[in-house]
Amino acid sequence: MSEHSSPVSVVTGGAGFLGSHLADYLLANGHHVIALDNLITGSVANIEHLAGNKRFKFIEHDVTEYIYLPGHVDYIFHFASPASPIDYLELPIQTLKVGALGTHKTLGLARAKEARFFLASTSEVYGDPLEHPQKETYWGNVNPIGPRGVYDEAKRFAEAMTMAYHRFHGVETRIVRIFNTYGPRMRPNDGRVVPTFSVQALKGEPITVFGDGSQTRSFCYVSDLIEGIYRLMMSDCADPVNIGNPLEMSVLQFADEIIRLCGSSSEVVHKPLPEDDPKIRQPNIEKAREVLDWEPQMDLEEGLRKTIEYFRELIEKKAI
Ligand code: UDP
Repeated sequence: MSEHSSPVSVVTGGAGFLGSHLADYLLANGHHVIALDNLITGSVANIEHLAGNKRFKFIEHDVTEYIYLPGHVDYIFHFASPASPIDYLELPIQTLKVGALGTHKTLGLARAKEARFFLASTSEVYGDPLEHPQKETYWGNVNPIGPRGVYDEAKRFAEAMTMAYHRFHGVETRIVRIFNTYGPRMRPNDGRVVPTFSVQALKGEPITVFGDGSQTRSFCYVSDLIEGIYRLMMSDCADPVNIGNPLEMSVLQFADEIIRLCGSSSEVVHKPLPEDDPKIRQPNIEKAREVLDWEPQMDLEEGLRKTIEYFRELIEKKAI
């Protein structure tokens, strides 16, 4: 901890969906926050409400390049990465670079600053899982050369690099494996299921269910995730911890839920299932319960209503 009265946290990807919510949480808990983002998928709109806050600083920077920051740092949260399947298709090299080189640079910064390092990893390290629900002990079933391989393998490398800095250099590290998370500030056009279905339903367009829609996901509201992340950073657990909501449903059920909550008359249409799309996904959160005394609080319907409201406002402002 610094001699400063308040801790200093660096958030990479600080203008992204999760990074900006994390910045809000840290500021509300008395931290100074330095947000780094190259804005390829992040957006200043996510942090513009923080302009003028004396404890917040934004630096446009690509963290795959050397990071120079003067002064003391206590915590580094490495959240920078493209994070949706269409991003991996459009930005495959950047996805690999930020997971690999970006993790190396941010770990180097943590070592130089004697700061605690936090890696935003992902349920994608489990690939198309053969164990269900997924526990942290499961090693995964990943196709290294498939379209999602650029993300999955970059994050697996990032975990390995984080553990190497922990074991070899003695850096204090934390690893969260984030399962599907939703909430305001998701990019409306990032192709992921929550923004896509919400915008389609609100506009009365057909809901594009990939495959037969029997594949499952488990959706966690962003405020629950951020609470779990903060608790993990402040814990003494260096092993990976799953954070997600175990409430599992099929994509088809999810489409019906969105249509209902939007009061929409959209119909469901089926499109081809993308290659390597995981068939099932549900976190086992026993470890988070035990180590962090954490479990999700937000009811799906309430979380979705807040999220749909966000997209409704964007549509009304003609922002999308
Ligand atoms: N999906 C869908 N229609 C869409 C977007 C996504 O049916 O327009 C499905 C996708 O095939 C996957 C699930 O919804 O099974 C979640 O997709 P998302 O891109 O949100 O994230 P993933 O969990 O696959 O990383």
